[in-house]
Amino acid sequence: MPVGKTLISAAQIHRRTRELGQLISNDHAGKELVVLGLMNGSIFFLTDLLRSITIPTRLETCRLQSYQDTHTTGQIRGIENLEGEFRGKHVLVVDDILDTGLTLSKLTAALRAQKPRSLRTAVLLSKQVARKARVTAHYIGFEIPNHFVIGYGLDYNGAYRSLPSIHLFNPA
Ligand code: 5GP
Ligand code: MG
Repeated sequence: MPVGKTLISAAQIHRRTRELGQLISNDHAGKELVVLGLMNGSIFFLTDLLRSITIPTRLETCRLQSYQDTHTTGQIRGIENLEGEFRGKHVLVVDDILDTGLTLSKLTAALRAQKPRSLRTAVLLSKQVARKARVTAHYIGFEIPNHFVIGYGLDYNGAYRSLPSIHLFNPA
């Protein structure tokens, strides 16, 4: 059975997402926030987080890909799909999980070139691993062990995204 033990329940995710939304709203009080969601993995976190943020937001998305099966390819495809106006804006990048850090470091470098007024990052999960890029997220939902996980947007080759909780993935 590929769907392993529940690591984080739907209720835990929703509680923590509301806390993060409040924190982000307080930190950016009085400002408008451009929220850039990285597709597809962040889809549920992005939409739940957006609804927990009480300041005005604008939504942008960008489709990036780095994983094949359960391993990072080390290559981030899709940065060229980055659209939207970030110059002079307060920007929050939202991703599902911080692993090697390559995705967030390459993306934030591309964004910085557009001179945003401020740039922060939020991830639902952060794996306790040696990062390949010096990067951290400003807002982290949960620290998890170095194990491949699925559910709540996170996939295995496109499958299992719609599970409401985060599960360990059992390889065949
Ligand atoms: P990084 O570039 O930090 O190594 O990896 C970030 C991306 O790799 C995430 O956006 C996600 O798409 C994918 N990823 C990393 N770890 C996992 C995992 O445990 N499960 C799934 N489904 N995707 C992961
Ligand atoms: Mg991703």
